[in-house]
Amino acid sequence: MHPALLLAAAAALSPGRGIPETLATDRAAHIRGLRYDLTFHIPEAKSAPIHASETVRFDLAAPRQVILDFEQKRALILAVKIGGKTVPFDFLDGHIILPAAATHAGENAIEIEFVAGDESLNRNPEFLYTLSVPARAHYAFPCFDQPSLKARYTLTLDIPSAWQVTANGAETGRRSAGDRTTVKFAETKPLPTYLFAFAAGKFQVETAERNGRTFRMFHRETDAAKVARNRDAIFDLHARAVSWLEDYTAIPYPWGKFDFVLIPSFQFGGMEHAGAILYNASGLMLDASATQNQLLGRASVISHETAHMWFGDLVTMRWFNDVWMKEVMANFMAAKIVNPSFPEINHDLRFLLSHYPAAYDVDRTAGSNPIRQQLSNLDEAGSLYGAIIYDKAPIVMRQLEMIAGERGFRDGMRDYLKRYSFGNATWVDLVNILEARNPGQVANWSHAWVDQRGRPEITTTLGDDVTLTQHDPLGRNLIWPQRLKVTAGWPGRVQHFDVAMNGATAKIPAANPLYVLPNGGGLGYGLFQLDPATLRYLLDQVEDIADPLTRGAAWVDLWEELLEGRVSAAQLLDTAARALPQEPDEQNTQRILTDVVRSFWHELPPDQRTARAPELERQLRAGLAGAPTASRKSSWFNAYRDVVLTPDGLAWLERVWRRDEKIDGLTFAEPDEIDMALNLALREVAGWQQILTAQRDRTQNPDRKARFEFVMPSLSADPAVREQSFERFRTLANRQHEAWVLEAERYLNHPLRAPESRRFVRPALDLLPEIQRTGDIFFPKRWMDATLSGHRSPEAAAEVRQYFAAHPELPERLRWVVLSAADDLLRSAARATARKP
Ligand SMILES: [Zn+2]
Repeated sequence: MHPALLLAAAAALSPGRGIPETLATDRAAHIRGLRYDLTFHIPEAKSAPIHASETVRFDLAAPRQVILDFEQKRALILAVKIGGKTVPFDFLDGHIILPAAATHAGENAIEIEFVAGDESLNRNPEFLYTLSVPARAHYAFPCFDQPSLKARYTLTLDIPSAWQVTANGAETGRRSAGDRTTVKFAETKPLPTYLFAFAAGKFQVETAERNGRTFRMFHRETDAAKVARNRDAIFDLHARAVSWLEDYTAIPYPWGKFDFVLIPSFQFGGMEHAGAILYNASGLMLDASATQNQLLGRASVISHETAHMWFGDLVTMRWFNDVWMKEVMANFMAAKIVNPSFPEINHDLRFLLSHYPAAYDVDRTAGSNPIRQQLSNLDEAGSLYGAIIYDKAPIVMRQLEMIAGERGFRDGMRDYLKRYSFGNATWVDLVNILEARNPGQVANWSHAWVDQRGRPEITTTLGDDVTLTQHDPLGRNLIWPQRLKVTAGWPGRVQHFDVAMNGATAKIPAANPLYVLPNGGGLGYGLFQLDPATLRYLLDQVEDIADPLTRGAAWVDLWEELLEGRVSAAQLLDTAARALPQEPDEQNTQRILTDVVRSFWHELPPDQRTARAPELERQLRAGLAGAPTASRKSSWFNAYRDVVLTPDGLAWLERVWRRDEKIDGLTFAEPDEIDMALNLALREVAGWQQILTAQRDRTQNPDRKARFEFVMPSLSADPAVREQSFERFRTLANRQHEAWVLEAERYLNHPLRAPESRRFVRPALDLLPEIQRTGDIFFPKRWMDATLSGHRSPEAAAEVRQYFAAHPELPERLRWVVLSAADDLLRSAARATARKP
């Protein structure tokens, strides 16, 4: 080896852990014509190492240092060669660093032999599958793990002969020798690393032809009747989505073949690997008793993943800060494809109730973030996900379509997809296309809605006409341009007004109405501070509003008014008690019952709880008795179970749990009985220990039994046992089942236990950074929600403030997590302090 080479190698600096944006930008600027030729030898045994090799080919304009990502021990890199000769390299912080002297202008081909890491290979006893989003491909093989370096992949898999296999490319050949088979796949079109995929194992394969295209479904379902019942519907839904998207985008399906794999207990609903989509099996293979919601959910997830074949796969975000775009577009397209097939569902109301409250829960807080965020390293990409991406962004995208018009929006999308096909684009690229088509309307709009956090406050003034005024509560003087459908009501008459609110105020020709709801048509987004007449009207007769969508919007507004301190919990509960029996729409009933439970526990002072309990229980029992369907009965019953406090009420619940009492039209499954037992124990009814042990013993499903045993100690009436229950969470191994931890943590911090569990608040905050490091993307926020949602005392609020004071170094994103989870607590503590003389 030449001494100069050694010196160069020794002097290499680490680009830092993870995938820093600076590294990604630099590589994208210099690497061209990227190709991977990959071979994996997959043993039958899940624990045996996967030997692998690759050739990475790319063009350089001039010799330069090359940094590949491989997040494994150095020992797993067996050889790095160029032209068959071993080359020196550094290995720092998960990066293979080749000196400039090892490269040359023109095509470079680096040959690497290695052992693939298991982290993104999801190895099970009879199958495995890749899942690399957002940047986990480099756990499995050395690569440039960033979305802006799209590559063509040629894959060879050596697998047990009894296994089935699929990958992005079409199979081009196979050769068997003994119990091993080697399968070769065609070179792919350009793909980002997060979409490179294969799945192999013991699968059944179903094939179907639709519109001249062959679809293949890989699955592990053993119930042949279930497969027979579902297969045609699953193929039809895919075929329909493909045709719809080809028509909408004016671009033929880009990936040649179309396979999909149904994975048991898959991490997500689906993952859009080009040409080889993965799904959670239970979302597609439905039982005969599937509800309308499950059917809608299946159609939606299939359309969502299929839409990604264009939105995300064909055109990919340059960096993960724009991941929200592909998610929103996929949902947006899915709704267009699917909703017309479910005419009995009020889709506008569903959109309102599923997105607005969740978006407001973050956006009203000091922990809100813009839709488009900075992301300096892909190892933080998980923290981008949350209600702002999943719930605010769809609302915003709907506004964008209104600005451009349906046809204009579609044509803009066609431009965008065509211009950036097989490449990358940013949100700004899309804004530029739409701004050119709608001059002056899109860029400003995007600045307020996408680049900035928070929401406008919109006040209404009634008179000879109605005036809407918006202002920026964060003092930036931001104007949020938006389309509103304003509803105004007079005795015996209702009118909707389409309003484009592009400035600080808007006037509506509605003289002296009884009430005005600026978001009555379910479009507007903001904090709507209702005028006094409207607020009075809603509290007195919200149920008189005939349109279910407008009623739903009114309930969303009432909740915001409650948090603003302009409506009391008692007023809200009285209004709900009167309105609920007359509410014909199941979605609204569900929403109001949720508000009732939340007000009862979190907003009502504890002494008023006891006073209100008997009447509230009576109302919920009456609702249960009168509800016409099982699903409505179950909403009423769950609300009852969650609030019940009186001895008589608890005795009835206990009889139901003991199966001594039947409820007409409602049957309980094991999870329902578990929830009853836990709630009885939480209330410390006589014999609560026996109830818990009896429930444990009667639980049949082993997963549920294990979960129940895990949660049980957090329900103990003995504070020492609860203390131990909390202490468990400090150990990573005890946090493996995040859903279990969250359930236990919620019970520990239930309002009934809040005074004693206040001492867990600080330790839970102290654990947060570790939880973020070790947990799934949604865990940090859910952990804080589970901890803080039960607390409303000034003392608990002080714990949060002291934590902030003690940790000025807390990363911004974690600060946001705490601030948004603590918002209700900090608000009510502030109200309590204000009430004190
Ligand atoms: Zn998606």
